[in-house]
Amino acid sequence: MPREAAAHEWIGRDAAVVWHGFTQMGTYATNSPLVIDRAEGRELIDVDGRRYLDAISSLWVNTLGHRVPELDAALVAQVNKVAHSTMLGNGNTVVIELAEALAGVVPVDAPHFLFAADGAVAVEQALKIAFQYWVNRGVEGRTQYLALGDAYHGDTIGSLSLGDGGVFSAVFDPLCFPVVRTPGYADPGWAAKACAAVEGRAGELAAVVIEPLVQGASGMLCAEAADVRALGETCRAHGVLLICDEVATGFGRTGTLFASEQCGLRPDLLCLGKGITGGYLAMSATVTSGEVFDAFLGCDLGPQTFFHGHSYGGNALAAAVALEHLRLIEDWDVLARVRARTGQLSALLEQRIAPLSGVAAVRQRGLMVGVELAPPRPGLRWGRRVCAGAVARGVLLRPLGDVVVVMPPLTTTEEEIVRIIDALDASVHEVTGS
Ligand SMILES: *Cc1c(COP(=O)(O)O)cnc(C)c1O
Repeated sequence: MPREAAAHEWIGRDAAVVWHGFTQMGTYATNSPLVIDRAEGRELIDVDGRRYLDAISSLWVNTLGHRVPELDAALVAQVNKVAHSTMLGNGNTVVIELAEALAGVVPVDAPHFLFAADGAVAVEQALKIAFQYWVNRGVEGRTQYLALGDAYHGDTIGSLSLGDGGVFSAVFDPLCFPVVRTPGYADPGWAAKACAAVEGRAGELAAVVIEPLVQGASGMLCAEAADVRALGETCRAHGVLLICDEVATGFGRTGTLFASEQCGLRPDLLCLGKGITGGYLAMSATVTSGEVFDAFLGCDLGPQTFFHGHSYGGNALAAAVALEHLRLIEDWDVLARVRARTGQLSALLEQRIAPLSGVAAVRQRGLMVGVELAPPRPGLRWGRRVCAGAVARGVLLRPLGDVVVVMPPLTTTEEEIVRIIDALDASVHEVTGS
């Protein structure tokens, strides 16, 4: 069969029946999508057998690579026990074990875990819990949320309301509820402005919602840990709940298990997702402090109850993989490996990428990187074209507008980091002429 023949056929079948998220389906088939058939380590292999280094961790979910023997074994062992049983009103051993293991590592006091399947749902649950927390405590008026400029918290209506939408989600503005919005991390004065808003409106706020350290989807905008900490302290001082959305930053991506740790935060609610199962299965969790949890205790079926739940919340297969994943992060000293690769990556970015005239800025926290391109005028689609160039060189990248995201798995090697930089460097030269 000629090269690319299989891809051509699969893309046709794909476009005929599948609807891809965040994708214009009218042009999908002409944008050279990859159709992945299998993987090995940190490489994805397409239907024609071509290999691509997964330099975006399969959209920020993968941590230890693909087909990790230990994770595969944990999944198989759980299949032989039970794949799923409901967590509504009943328990499951592996989910209990996972919650116990997570309780030992999350930066939340006396934590309790409400599991779901998607990051947006973890945020949605946090919003509803924060709202009802004040109702249950008999406090009136604390019904609003403060969220930051450039925020992204997911695509359900509640999480979308928190997000600082922009052009892609503007069509849904009429469906969204208003929030108190102060500037995001792109504004050096963001923390002072957020703190002032919390001080001025504490009595109206149910919670402040942030992505600690890195606003991922807006192009890896980075904050200083001390600024994030200051906002956390202001929330505490004014009795406003702090919700940390660590769906992207959680599970080692920034060099600590959670970004909140670097910021010295102990959030009241913590949202987990993406990396929680190492990128294997859909799982998310809303973590609440004991104090928040206790406000929902009351008589059976009484009004204090949190009447919310999802069919697949606390899936046993996902829990088994997540539990083994936590153990591997510890056993393999994954965080030390992240820090070593972070140093190497930042040196290479500084030497070879930042000086290019087509590059406006390079932002990095741990293995989360945004390379912002500097197109001379709008409409050139530099982000998309630079990533296409990298893909042609065997490195899978995907942009956020004109920001090229680089987010390799946490177990990435020294050689792979060089491979990513080589591909990015060549592609930026090719597209921008710099
Ligand atoms: C990806 C992301 C979400 C949404 O998670 P989904 O699993 O895609 O619903 C929420 N918050 C942040 C910070 C994210 O990066």
